[in-house]
Amino acid sequence: MSDISIRITGRAGRITLQRPQALNAMTYEMCTAIERAFDAWRNDPNVDVVVFDAEGDRAFCSGGDIAELYATGMAGDFAYGQKFWADEYRLNHKIFQFPKPVVSFLQGFTMGGGVGIGCHGSHRVVGDTSQIAMPECGIGLLPDVGGSLMLALAPGRMGEYLGTTAARMNAGDAIFAGFADLYIPEAQWSALIAQLEATGDPSHLEAAATPPAPGPISVQMGDIDRHFHGASLGDVLTTLRGEDSDFARTTLKLMGRNSPLSMACTIEALTRLRGPSLTLEKALDLEYRFTARAMEHGDFLEGIRAAIIDKDRAPQWQFADGKVPATAVSKMLMPLGKMALKLGGTGMKIGFVGLGNMGAPMAANLVKAGHEVTGFDIANVPPEGVHTAASATQAAEGADIVITMLPNGAILRAVADEVIPAMGAGTTLIDCSTVDVDSARAVAAQADAAGILCVDAPVSGGIGGAAAGTLTFMAGGNAAAFAKAEPLFEIMGQKAVHCGDAGAGQAAKICNNMILGATMIATCEAFALADKLGLERQKMFDVVSTSSGFSWSMNTYCPAPGIGPESPADNDYKPGFAAELMLKDLGLSQQAAETVDADTPMGARALELYRTFVEDEGGKGRDFSAMLPRFAARSRS
Ligand code: NAD
Repeated sequence: MSDISIRITGRAGRITLQRPQALNAMTYEMCTAIERAFDAWRNDPNVDVVVFDAEGDRAFCSGGDIAELYATGMAGDFAYGQKFWADEYRLNHKIFQFPKPVVSFLQGFTMGGGVGIGCHGSHRVVGDTSQIAMPECGIGLLPDVGGSLMLALAPGRMGEYLGTTAARMNAGDAIFAGFADLYIPEAQWSALIAQLEATGDPSHLEAAATPPAPGPISVQMGDIDRHFHGASLGDVLTTLRGEDSDFARTTLKLMGRNSPLSMACTIEALTRLRGPSLTLEKALDLEYRFTARAMEHGDFLEGIRAAIIDKDRAPQWQFADGKVPATAVSKMLMPLGKMALKLGGTGMKIGFVGLGNMGAPMAANLVKAGHEVTGFDIANVPPEGVHTAASATQAAEGADIVITMLPNGAILRAVADEVIPAMGAGTTLIDCSTVDVDSARAVAAQADAAGILCVDAPVSGGIGGAAAGTLTFMAGGNAAAFAKAEPLFEIMGQKAVHCGDAGAGQAAKICNNMILGATMIATCEAFALADKLGLERQKMFDVVSTSSGFSWSMNTYCPAPGIGPESPADNDYKPGFAAELMLKDLGLSQQAAETVDADTPMGARALELYRTFVEDEGGKGRDFSAMLPRFAARSRS
């Protein structure tokens, strides 16, 4: 007997899971077979509804078949798992987006991968035996298959609670949490399925449903919200450990079984997802960042070993004391760049104007994420995959979003005059250039008058961050505009801070770069001093990069060739971030400081030094870190 039966019966596309001996755990073959059926039935006039059910009374589907993932992962083959998860998530997305009703009957266990096929349809039916859970943290994963969408949408902090404890929901809890819709006694299910097959119409299901009794988890929402409102695993554990109550003890016991890294990432993922811009695409993308790394860097293989291979139930988790550093969480949830999840058919049309050192790699990352990008630059050829436009206007025509990445405010204003009239009402303009606050506000007002949303979103992270998709965006604009831009920030960067209204992003940027200019000068002059004191540059780096003099200029973008991570210093100071752009930014901060009467002596001195360097000392066209050879060649007078 096959593990799955796929057929058309009457008006219904029918899928029955037939692996009751394995609690209907889903294999890769079952996943691809279901996807083929959904593809075939999408436009099939004979299919009005899709109906999922499963054999046996113990489980609808207890999850994905993880034994094979373990075997390949232990052999060092991480690509098999990555493909498995990417294909599974694409199926979850197809079920969620399916244009016809999808009904699932969820008896017994519906967990993990079972949620992915059973809980994204339009009519999710539960009964008295139903137990739904997202137990991934127990095997070193994080709630996936789109489950993080439901967790982020669940009332209060129930999502954090369910994700980190793996607690099982009965029918009442599942409906309360948004994992199910209808409670119908299981004795009625086969008659209802026969009716669905005969009519193709699920409306009779509502008539058969009754409200379930409140579940045991939903009645504890006061405790859940109180303990799980923190922004990190550490916060949650601290409040739980600080209380002597049955709830705290039981919850700590449940969490004690699970991977701390997985739990910390679950809380961070839900914090990032929750909000008006939440979509299933965004949830799956974030989940995949974790799962794609779970074998190599997470606790997944150890979790499987302990659960189903050695069955000792004693996994040796990383960060077993629960103290998971924020960097470990960020590493698991960083964008995947070209490996990012591709769901297909969800891309936006994006116009991109300004494809220089920063713009080109940013546009390339948008293409890799599945968007259709049309670019224009007066000098540069668009990177591979970006369509070429003959003008900025042409790049903007028909675009959902236009992004600009240009040298200065005057050029931005001129480009805005071209693109705004070409953009449709309701579309969004995102300017990522570093420009003066006045230009940012003027362009925002012009966009607003044309019914276009606008965000000023300058970046930090340099060309390395642009290429790796790890930029930080500092954004100004209203909440609706930020929500539109945020999914793209997620692709091009790893953090986006909504700083306030129009111009607030630029304000944050010029303050940041005033610090950067001053620290780069301080770092360069310290290296030049070290040279004259006979201190080796490498030794100086080894000390400062781990002492109180450390900074981004020293640790990440070291101005001394051959020292620290690769930087423009290793490429004969070819920019990177050109000295004249730093001069521009320092000018912007001094201009702003004058306007608001702020005392900024370090910023003023940094401006003077970069001006001399660029205008009189051949610094133009060199990286801003080329201040080091400048200082090294000088004496005190
Ligand atoms: P860049 O000079 O390499 O790129 C700017 C691009 O804009 C060029 O390719 C240029 O041909 C194009 N351009 C100029 N006028 C145009 C017009 N009218 N229409 C179309 N294209 C036009 O500069 P970059 O390093 O990519 O920086 C871009 C922006 O990002 C700047 O505002 C800079 O301050 C900021 N920034 C740069 C870095 C960095 O490390 N390079 C870091 C953070 C922020």
